[in-house]
Amino acid sequence: MPIQEKNYWLETVSTSPVQSARDLPEEVDVAIVGGGFCGLSAARALAKRGVNTALLEAETLGWGASCRNGGMVLTGMKLPVPTLIRRYGREAVRKMYAASLESINQVEQIVREENIDCNFSRSGHLEVACKQSHFDAYEESAALIREEFQHELRIIPKSELRREIGSDIYFGGMVDEASAGLNPGRYVAGLAHAAQRAGACLHNHTRVEKIEAKPQNGARRFRLLTSQGAITAREVILASGAYTGEAAPALRRKIIPIGSYIIATEVLSADLARELSPRNRMIYDSKHFLYYYRLTPDKRMLFGGRAAFFPETDNTVRKSAEILRRGMISVYSQLRDTKVEYVWGGTLDFTLDVMPHAGKLDDMYFAAGFAGHGVAAATWFGAKLAGLVCGDKDDLPFTKIPFPTAPIGLRSGHTWALPLAGLWYRLLDFLT
Ligand SMILES: Cc1cc2nc3c(=O)[nH]c(=O)nc-3n(C[C@H](O)[C@H](O)[C@H](O)COP(=O)(O)OP(=O)(O)OC[C@H]3O[C@@H](n4cnc5c(N)ncnc54)[C@H](O)[C@@H]3O)c2cc1C
Repeated sequence: MPIQEKNYWLETVSTSPVQSARDLPEEVDVAIVGGGFCGLSAARALAKRGVNTALLEAETLGWGASCRNGGMVLTGMKLPVPTLIRRYGREAVRKMYAASLESINQVEQIVREENIDCNFSRSGHLEVACKQSHFDAYEESAALIREEFQHELRIIPKSELRREIGSDIYFGGMVDEASAGLNPGRYVAGLAHAAQRAGACLHNHTRVEKIEAKPQNGARRFRLLTSQGAITAREVILASGAYTGEAAPALRRKIIPIGSYIIATEVLSADLARELSPRNRMIYDSKHFLYYYRLTPDKRMLFGGRAAFFPETDNTVRKSAEILRRGMISVYSQLRDTKVEYVWGGTLDFTLDVMPHAGKLDDMYFAAGFAGHGVAAATWFGAKLAGLVCGDKDDLPFTKIPFPTAPIGLRSGHTWALPLAGLWYRLLDFLT
Protein backbone atom coordinates (compact mmCIF):
# COMPACT_ATOMS: atom_id res chain seq x y z
CA MET A 1 0.00 0.00 0.00
CA PRO A 2 1.81 3.23 -1.11
CA ILE A 3 2.10 5.83 1.59
CA GLN A 4 -0.11 8.92 1.24
CA GLU A 5 1.20 12.45 1.62
CA LYS A 6 0.78 13.63 5.22
CA ASN A 7 2.76 16.36 7.01
CA TYR A 8 3.79 15.31 10.52
CA TRP A 9 4.20 18.86 11.85
CA LEU A 10 0.67 19.90 10.91
CA GLU A 11 -0.73 17.05 13.00
CA THR A 12 1.08 18.33 16.08
CA VAL A 13 -0.28 21.88 16.07
CA SER A 14 -2.47 22.16 19.15
CA THR A 15 -3.46 25.84 19.07
CA SER A 16 -6.56 26.79 17.08
CA PRO A 17 -5.68 28.23 13.68
CA VAL A 18 -5.65 32.00 13.38
CA GLN A 19 -9.00 33.25 12.14
CA SER A 20 -8.57 35.11 8.89
CA ALA A 21 -9.46 38.83 9.00
CA ARG A 22 -12.91 39.26 7.45
CA ASP A 23 -13.02 41.77 4.62
CA LEU A 24 -10.04 43.08 2.76
CA PRO A 25 -9.49 46.74 3.75
CA GLU A 26 -9.50 49.24 0.87
CA GLU A 27 -6.20 50.77 1.85
CA VAL A 28 -3.29 49.92 4.17
CA ASP A 29 0.19 51.25 4.82
CA VAL A 30 1.86 47.96 3.97
CA ALA A 31 0.63 44.88 2.10
CA ILE A 32 2.65 41.69 2.57
CA VAL A 33 2.41 38.96 -0.06
CA GLY A 34 2.90 35.53 1.56
CA GLY A 35 2.21 34.12 5.01
CA GLY A 36 5.31 32.06 5.85
CA PHE A 37 8.02 32.90 8.41
CA CYS A 38 9.15 35.92 6.40
CA GLY A 39 5.73 37.49 5.88
CA LEU A 40 4.53 36.73 9.41
CA SER A 41 7.71 38.04 11.00
CA ALA A 42 7.42 41.24 8.94
CA ALA A 43 3.72 41.57 9.85
CA ARG A 44 4.46 41.13 13.55
CA ALA A 45 7.31 43.66 13.51
CA LEU A 46 5.32 46.25 11.52
CA ALA A 47 2.21 45.92 13.65
CA LYS A 48 4.29 46.31 16.81
CA ARG A 49 5.52 49.63 15.38
CA GLY A 50 1.96 50.75 14.77
CA VAL A 51 2.00 50.32 10.99
CA ASN A 52 -1.34 49.43 9.43
CA THR A 53 -0.52 46.08 7.80
CA ALA A 54 -2.41 43.46 5.79
CA LEU A 55 -0.84 40.10 5.04
CA LEU A 56 -2.25 38.29 2.00
CA GLU A 57 -1.76 34.52 1.80
CA ALA A 58 -2.96 32.58 -1.26
CA GLU A 59 -3.63 29.38 0.71
CA THR A 60 -3.44 29.22 4.51
CA LEU A 61 -0.79 30.70 6.81
CA GLY A 62 2.37 28.59 6.68
CA TRP A 63 1.10 26.58 3.70
CA GLY A 64 4.42 27.05 1.83
CA ALA A 65 7.87 25.92 2.93
CA SER A 66 7.41 27.26 6.46
CA CYS A 67 5.28 24.34 7.66
CA ARG A 68 7.04 21.75 5.52
CA ASN A 69 10.67 22.00 6.63
CA GLY A 70 12.93 20.05 8.96
CA GLY A 71 12.66 22.60 11.77
CA MET A 72 16.45 23.00 11.89
CA VAL A 73 17.47 26.47 13.05
CA LEU A 74 20.96 26.58 11.64
CA THR A 75 24.00 28.82 11.94
CA GLY A 76 25.88 29.92 8.84
CA MET A 77 24.70 29.96 5.27
CA LYS A 78 24.33 27.40 2.56
CA LEU A 79 27.77 28.13 1.07
CA PRO A 80 30.91 27.30 3.05
CA VAL A 81 32.68 30.27 4.67
CA PRO A 82 35.90 30.00 2.59
CA THR A 83 33.78 30.24 -0.59
CA LEU A 84 31.87 33.22 0.81
CA ILE A 85 35.07 35.06 1.74
CA ARG A 86 36.58 34.46 -1.70
CA ARG A 87 33.41 35.83 -3.27
CA TYR A 88 32.43 38.78 -1.05
CA GLY A 89 35.51 39.59 1.06
CA ARG A 90 36.09 39.32 4.83
CA GLU A 91 34.20 42.42 5.94
CA ALA A 92 30.93 41.57 4.21
CA VAL A 93 31.08 37.92 5.29
CA ARG A 94 31.73 38.92 8.89
CA LYS A 95 28.41 40.82 8.80
CA MET A 96 26.63 37.94 7.06
CA TYR A 97 27.84 35.42 9.62
CA ALA A 98 26.89 37.72 12.49
CA ALA A 99 23.42 37.98 10.92
CA SER A 100 23.11 34.20 10.89
CA LEU A 101 23.93 33.99 14.61
CA GLU A 102 21.64 36.94 15.39
CA SER A 103 18.80 35.30 13.46
CA ILE A 104 18.84 32.27 15.79
CA ASN A 105 18.88 34.55 18.84
CA GLN A 106 15.94 36.37 17.31
CA VAL A 107 13.90 33.17 16.83
CA GLU A 108 14.67 32.25 20.46
CA GLN A 109 13.63 35.71 21.64
CA ILE A 110 10.36 35.67 19.67
CA VAL A 111 9.54 32.20 21.00
CA ARG A 112 10.15 33.42 24.55
CA GLU A 113 8.44 36.81 24.22
CA GLU A 114 5.38 35.43 22.50
CA ASN A 115 5.29 32.30 24.61
CA ILE A 116 5.27 29.99 21.58
CA ASP A 117 5.12 26.31 22.50
CA CYS A 118 7.23 24.93 19.63
CA ASN A 119 9.91 22.77 21.31
CA PHE A 120 12.67 25.30 20.58
CA SER A 121 15.88 23.75 21.86
CA ARG A 122 19.56 24.64 21.38
CA SER A 123 20.52 21.07 20.66
CA GLY A 124 23.21 22.04 18.14
CA HIS A 125 23.85 20.74 14.66
CA LEU A 126 26.18 18.04 13.37
CA GLU A 127 27.49 18.10 9.82
CA VAL A 128 28.84 14.70 8.75
CA ALA A 129 31.48 14.15 6.05
CA CYS A 130 30.68 11.75 3.20
CA LYS A 131 34.30 11.80 1.96
CA GLN A 132 37.71 12.19 3.58
CA SER A 133 38.25 15.37 1.54
CA HIS A 134 35.03 16.84 2.98
CA PHE A 135 36.25 16.09 6.51
CA ASP A 136 39.61 17.71 5.74
CA ALA A 137 37.76 20.85 4.60
CA TYR A 138 35.99 21.04 8.00
CA GLU A 139 39.35 21.83 9.65
CA GLU A 140 39.84 24.80 7.32
CA SER A 141 36.28 26.05 7.84
CA ALA A 142 36.40 25.74 11.63
CA ALA A 143 39.77 27.53 11.85
CA LEU A 144 38.54 30.35 9.62
CA ILE A 145 35.28 30.74 11.54
CA ARG A 146 37.17 30.83 14.86
CA GLU A 147 39.63 33.42 13.54
CA GLU A 148 37.18 35.65 11.67
CA PHE A 149 34.00 35.43 13.74
CA GLN A 150 35.23 34.17 17.13
CA HIS A 151 32.67 31.39 16.84
CA GLU A 152 33.64 27.91 17.95
CA LEU A 153 32.88 24.77 15.90
CA ARG A 154 34.04 21.39 17.14
CA ILE A 155 35.68 18.84 14.82
CA ILE A 156 34.71 15.25 15.59
CA PRO A 157 37.12 12.60 14.23
CA LYS A 158 35.63 9.36 12.95
CA SER A 159 36.87 7.49 16.05
CA GLU A 160 34.64 9.69 18.27
CA LEU A 161 31.65 9.98 15.96
CA ARG A 162 29.61 7.30 17.77
CA ARG A 163 29.13 9.81 20.61
CA GLU A 164 27.18 11.95 18.13
CA ILE A 165 25.48 9.55 15.74
CA GLY A 166 24.61 5.86 15.61
CA SER A 167 26.12 5.29 12.18
CA ASP A 168 29.59 4.33 10.95
CA ILE A 169 29.33 5.45 7.34
CA TYR A 170 30.83 8.92 7.73
CA PHE A 171 34.44 10.16 7.79
CA GLY A 172 33.96 12.49 10.74
CA GLY A 173 31.85 15.48 11.66
CA MET A 174 31.65 19.08 12.79
CA VAL A 175 29.40 20.32 15.58
CA ASP A 176 27.97 23.78 16.17
CA GLU A 177 26.30 24.02 19.57
CA ALA A 178 24.58 27.33 18.68
CA SER A 179 22.09 25.76 16.25
CA ALA A 180 18.66 24.75 17.43
CA GLY A 181 15.62 22.69 16.57
CA LEU A 182 11.93 23.54 16.70
CA ASN A 183 8.55 22.38 15.49
CA PRO A 184 7.88 24.63 12.46
CA GLY A 185 4.12 23.99 12.42
CA ARG A 186 3.79 25.25 15.97
CA TYR A 187 6.22 28.11 15.33
CA VAL A 188 4.15 29.33 12.37
CA ALA A 189 0.96 29.12 14.44
CA GLY A 190 2.59 31.06 17.28
CA LEU A 191 4.02 33.72 14.97
CA ALA A 192 0.63 34.16 13.31
CA HIS A 193 -1.12 34.63 16.67
CA ALA A 194 1.60 37.07 17.73
CA ALA A 195 1.27 39.13 14.52
CA GLN A 196 -2.50 39.22 14.89
CA ARG A 197 -2.32 40.18 18.58
CA ALA A 198 -0.01 43.04 17.61
CA GLY A 199 -2.70 44.29 15.21
CA ALA A 200 -1.79 42.92 11.76
CA CYS A 201 -4.69 41.80 9.56
CA LEU A 202 -3.99 38.30 8.23
CA HIS A 203 -5.95 37.14 5.19
CA ASN A 204 -6.02 33.47 4.22
CA HIS A 205 -7.17 32.35 0.75
CA THR A 206 -6.28 35.71 -0.75
CA ARG A 207 -4.10 35.22 -3.79
CA VAL A 208 -2.44 38.33 -5.17
CA GLU A 209 -2.92 38.10 -8.91
CA LYS A 210 -1.45 41.36 -10.10
CA ILE A 211 0.37 44.34 -8.59
CA GLU A 212 0.17 47.71 -10.32
CA ALA A 213 2.07 50.88 -9.46
CA LYS A 214 -0.64 53.57 -9.06
CA PRO A 215 0.85 56.87 -7.79
CA GLN A 216 -1.68 59.11 -6.02
CA ASN A 217 -1.05 62.88 -5.96
CA GLY A 218 2.56 62.22 -6.79
CA ALA A 219 3.00 59.74 -3.91
CA ARG A 220 3.88 56.09 -4.47
CA ARG A 221 0.96 53.69 -4.18
CA PHE A 222 0.45 50.08 -5.26
CA ARG A 223 -2.83 48.49 -6.24
CA LEU A 224 -2.96 44.77 -5.52
CA LEU A 225 -5.62 42.81 -7.39
CA THR A 226 -6.44 39.69 -5.38
CA SER A 227 -8.84 36.78 -5.51
CA GLN A 228 -10.83 38.64 -2.78
CA GLY A 229 -10.85 42.10 -4.39
CA ALA A 230 -8.43 45.01 -4.67
CA ILE A 231 -6.37 46.70 -1.98
CA THR A 232 -4.18 49.80 -2.15
CA ALA A 233 -0.90 49.99 -0.23
CA ARG A 234 1.81 52.56 0.30
CA GLU A 235 4.47 49.83 0.39
CA VAL A 236 4.55 46.16 -0.63
CA ILE A 237 6.68 43.39 0.86
CA LEU A 238 7.11 40.30 -1.31
CA ALA A 239 7.50 37.31 1.02
CA SER A 240 6.33 34.61 -1.36
CA GLY A 241 9.56 32.56 -1.35
CA ALA A 242 9.81 29.60 -3.72
CA TYR A 243 6.09 29.96 -4.47
CA THR A 244 6.52 33.39 -6.09
CA GLY A 245 4.37 33.52 -9.22
CA GLU A 246 3.10 35.81 -11.96
CA ALA A 247 2.16 38.61 -9.54
CA ALA A 248 5.84 39.39 -8.99
CA PRO A 249 7.56 38.62 -12.32
CA ALA A 250 10.83 40.42 -11.52
CA LEU A 251 11.35 38.33 -8.37
CA ARG A 252 10.15 35.16 -10.04
CA ARG A 253 12.92 35.47 -12.62
CA LYS A 254 15.48 35.30 -9.82
CA ILE A 255 14.22 32.23 -7.98
CA ILE A 256 15.07 28.60 -8.66
CA PRO A 257 12.41 26.41 -7.00
CA ILE A 258 13.82 23.08 -5.84
CA GLY A 259 11.73 20.24 -4.43
CA SER A 260 12.74 18.65 -1.15
CA TYR A 261 11.02 15.79 0.64
CA ILE A 262 10.78 14.45 4.16
CA ILE A 263 9.70 11.18 5.74
CA ALA A 264 8.99 10.54 9.42
CA THR A 265 8.97 7.09 10.99
CA GLU A 266 6.78 5.65 13.67
CA VAL A 267 7.73 6.59 17.27
CA LEU A 268 11.02 4.87 18.20
CA SER A 269 11.86 3.30 21.53
CA ALA A 270 13.81 5.62 23.84
CA ASP A 271 16.88 3.35 23.58
CA LEU A 272 16.87 3.27 19.79
CA ALA A 273 16.34 7.04 19.55
CA ARG A 274 19.31 7.59 21.89
CA GLU A 275 21.47 5.21 19.87
CA LEU A 276 20.67 7.00 16.57
CA SER A 277 21.20 10.52 17.87
CA PRO A 278 22.67 10.52 21.40
CA ARG A 279 22.75 14.33 21.62
CA ASN A 280 19.58 15.00 19.68
CA ARG A 281 21.43 17.04 17.03
CA MET A 282 20.11 18.54 13.81
CA ILE A 283 22.17 16.47 11.34
CA TYR A 284 23.02 16.94 7.68
CA ASP A 285 25.66 15.46 5.43
CA SER A 286 28.28 17.13 3.26
CA LYS A 287 26.89 16.27 -0.19
CA HIS A 288 25.33 18.75 -2.63
CA PHE A 289 22.42 16.31 -2.99
CA LEU A 290 22.26 16.06 0.76
CA TYR A 291 20.33 14.19 3.46
CA TYR A 292 19.21 16.07 6.58
CA TYR A 293 17.71 14.37 9.60
CA ARG A 294 16.79 14.68 13.25
CA LEU A 295 14.58 13.20 15.93
CA THR A 296 11.19 14.81 16.41
CA PRO A 297 10.22 15.84 19.94
CA ASP A 298 8.20 12.59 20.24
CA LYS A 299 11.21 10.54 18.99
CA ARG A 300 10.45 9.71 15.39
CA MET A 301 13.29 9.81 12.87
CA LEU A 302 12.57 12.67 10.48
CA PHE A 303 14.67 12.20 7.34
CA GLY A 304 14.76 14.61 4.41
CA GLY A 305 16.53 15.09 1.14
CA ARG A 306 16.36 16.47 -2.35
CA ALA A 307 15.03 13.25 -3.77
CA ALA A 308 13.68 14.91 -6.92
CA PHE A 309 14.47 18.20 -8.58
CA PHE A 310 11.08 19.57 -9.48
CA PRO A 311 8.22 20.95 -7.38
CA GLU A 312 6.19 18.39 -5.48
CA THR A 313 3.27 16.43 -6.96
CA ASP A 314 1.50 13.33 -5.54
CA ASN A 315 3.72 11.20 -7.72
CA THR A 316 7.08 12.77 -6.81
CA VAL A 317 6.12 12.72 -3.13
CA ARG A 318 5.36 8.95 -3.23
CA LYS A 319 8.53 8.15 -5.19
CA SER A 320 10.50 10.30 -2.79
CA ALA A 321 9.19 8.35 0.21
CA GLU A 322 10.75 5.16 -1.12
CA ILE A 323 14.00 6.86 -2.17
CA LEU A 324 14.30 8.50 1.24
CA ARG A 325 13.52 5.30 3.11
CA ARG A 326 16.40 3.61 1.28
CA GLY A 327 18.60 6.62 2.07
CA MET A 328 17.63 6.47 5.74
CA ILE A 329 18.51 2.77 5.93
CA SER A 330 21.85 3.42 4.24
CA VAL A 331 22.65 5.74 7.17
CA TYR A 332 20.86 3.81 9.91
CA SER A 333 20.61 0.08 9.20
CA GLN A 334 18.86 -0.12 12.62
CA LEU A 335 15.74 1.32 10.93
CA ARG A 336 15.43 -1.45 8.31
CA ASP A 337 12.12 -2.69 9.76
CA THR A 338 10.82 0.62 11.06
CA LYS A 339 7.56 1.85 9.59
CA VAL A 340 7.46 5.16 7.73
CA GLU A 341 4.24 6.94 8.73
CA TYR A 342 4.58 10.35 7.11
CA VAL A 343 5.84 11.79 3.86
CA TRP A 344 5.51 15.26 2.44
CA GLY A 345 7.32 17.60 0.10
CA GLY A 346 7.93 21.29 -0.26
CA THR A 347 9.76 23.75 -2.44
CA LEU A 348 12.93 25.60 -1.49
CA ASP A 349 13.82 29.01 -2.88
CA PHE A 350 17.31 28.76 -4.31
CA THR A 351 19.02 31.52 -6.26
CA LEU A 352 21.69 31.19 -8.92
CA ASP A 353 24.44 32.29 -6.52
CA VAL A 354 22.97 30.18 -3.65
CA MET A 355 22.67 33.30 -1.47
CA PRO A 356 19.82 35.03 0.33
CA HIS A 357 18.94 38.43 -1.08
CA ALA A 358 16.83 41.38 0.02
CA GLY A 359 16.12 44.91 -1.08
CA LYS A 360 13.77 46.36 -3.65
CA LEU A 361 12.59 45.10 -7.05
CA ASP A 362 10.15 47.22 -9.05
CA ASP A 363 10.02 49.51 -6.00
CA MET A 364 8.69 46.69 -3.78
CA TYR A 365 10.60 45.27 -0.82
CA PHE A 366 11.50 41.59 -1.04
CA ALA A 367 13.60 38.93 0.66
CA ALA A 368 14.25 35.47 -0.80
CA GLY A 369 16.85 32.78 -1.45
CA PHE A 370 16.96 31.26 2.03
CA ALA A 371 17.38 27.74 0.59
CA GLY A 372 17.71 25.28 3.50
CA HIS A 373 18.42 27.97 6.09
CA GLY A 374 15.08 29.74 6.07
CA VAL A 375 13.68 28.98 9.53
CA ALA A 376 16.00 31.51 11.14
CA ALA A 377 16.84 33.59 8.05
CA ALA A 378 13.26 34.18 6.86
CA THR A 379 12.28 35.28 10.38
CA TRP A 380 15.24 37.69 10.53
CA PHE A 381 14.79 39.07 7.00
CA GLY A 382 11.07 39.62 7.61
CA ALA A 383 11.80 41.74 10.68
CA LYS A 384 14.58 43.60 8.85
CA LEU A 385 12.28 44.42 5.91
CA ALA A 386 9.77 45.80 8.40
CA GLY A 387 12.55 48.02 9.73
CA LEU A 388 13.46 49.25 6.23
CA VAL A 389 9.82 50.09 5.55
CA CYS A 390 9.81 52.15 8.77
CA GLY A 391 12.93 54.04 7.67
CA ASP A 392 15.64 52.15 9.62
CA LYS A 393 19.15 52.44 8.20
CA ASP A 394 19.91 49.71 5.67
CA ASP A 395 22.83 47.87 7.28
CA LEU A 396 22.02 44.50 5.70
CA PRO A 397 25.05 42.96 3.96
CA PHE A 398 22.67 41.08 1.66
CA THR A 399 21.14 44.14 0.00
CA LYS A 400 24.49 45.18 -1.43
CA ILE A 401 25.49 42.05 -3.33
CA PRO A 402 24.53 41.46 -6.98
CA PHE A 403 21.33 39.39 -7.42
CA PRO A 404 21.69 37.32 -10.61
CA THR A 405 18.71 36.34 -12.73
CA ALA A 406 18.16 32.58 -13.07
CA PRO A 407 18.51 30.98 -16.52
CA ILE A 408 15.05 30.55 -18.07
CA GLY A 409 14.87 26.77 -17.67
CA LEU A 410 15.53 26.93 -13.93
CA ARG A 411 12.93 29.57 -13.05
CA SER A 412 9.67 29.01 -11.30
CA GLY A 413 7.09 27.97 -13.90
CA HIS A 414 9.81 26.88 -16.37
CA THR A 415 10.99 23.75 -14.69
CA TRP A 416 11.87 21.57 -17.67
CA ALA A 417 15.59 21.89 -16.95
CA LEU A 418 15.42 21.11 -13.23
CA PRO A 419 16.14 17.39 -13.67
CA LEU A 420 19.33 18.56 -15.45
CA ALA A 421 20.17 20.65 -12.40
CA GLY A 422 19.68 17.48 -10.35
CA LEU A 423 22.10 15.57 -12.56
CA TRP A 424 24.59 18.42 -12.23
CA TYR A 425 24.44 18.24 -8.42
CA ARG A 426 24.85 14.46 -8.49
CA LEU A 427 27.88 14.87 -10.77
CA LEU A 428 29.38 17.41 -8.35
CA ASP A 429 28.97 14.87 -5.54
CA PHE A 430 30.83 12.33 -7.66
CA LEU A 431 33.64 14.75 -8.53
CA THR A 432 34.16 16.67 -5.26
C1 LIG B 1 11.20 20.14 2.65
C2 LIG B 1 11.89 21.37 3.17
C3 LIG B 1 12.78 21.26 4.24
C4 LIG B 1 13.41 22.38 4.75
N1 LIG B 1 14.16 22.27 5.87
C5 LIG B 1 14.68 23.39 6.46
C6 LIG B 1 15.33 23.31 7.72
O1 LIG B 1 15.39 22.26 8.36
N2 LIG B 1 15.88 24.45 8.22
C7 LIG B 1 15.78 25.66 7.58
O2 LIG B 1 16.28 26.66 8.09
N3 LIG B 1 15.09 25.77 6.40
C8 LIG B 1 14.54 24.68 5.84
N4 LIG B 1 13.80 24.79 4.70
C9 LIG B 1 13.63 26.12 4.10
C10 LIG B 1 12.60 26.96 4.84
O3 LIG B 1 11.46 26.20 5.12
C11 LIG B 1 12.23 28.17 3.97
O4 LIG B 1 13.41 28.84 3.59
C12 LIG B 1 11.31 29.14 4.68
O5 LIG B 1 10.19 28.49 5.20
C13 LIG B 1 10.89 30.23 3.71
O6 LIG B 1 9.92 31.02 4.34
P1 LIG B 1 9.16 32.12 3.49
O7 LIG B 1 8.25 32.84 4.41
O8 LIG B 1 10.15 32.94 2.73
O9 LIG B 1 8.37 31.31 2.36
P2 LIG B 1 7.17 30.28 2.45
O10 LIG B 1 7.04 29.66 3.78
O11 LIG B 1 7.32 29.36 1.28
O12 LIG B 1 5.88 31.19 2.26
C14 LIG B 1 5.56 31.80 1.06
C15 LIG B 1 4.05 31.91 1.00
O13 LIG B 1 3.68 32.82 -0.04
C16 LIG B 1 2.43 32.41 -0.52
N5 LIG B 1 2.24 33.03 -1.84
C17 LIG B 1 2.96 32.85 -2.97
N6 LIG B 1 2.46 33.61 -3.97
C18 LIG B 1 1.41 34.29 -3.47
C19 LIG B 1 0.49 35.23 -4.02
N7 LIG B 1 0.57 35.61 -5.30
N8 LIG B 1 -0.47 35.74 -3.21
C20 LIG B 1 -0.55 35.39 -1.91
N9 LIG B 1 0.30 34.48 -1.34
C21 LIG B 1 1.26 33.94 -2.10
C22 LIG B 1 2.53 30.90 -0.57
O14 LIG B 1 1.25 30.29 -0.56
C23 LIG B 1 3.35 30.59 0.68
O15 LIG B 1 2.54 30.22 1.79
C24 LIG B 1 13.17 23.67 4.16
C25 LIG B 1 12.28 23.78 3.09
C26 LIG B 1 11.64 22.64 2.60
C27 LIG B 1 10.69 22.78 1.47
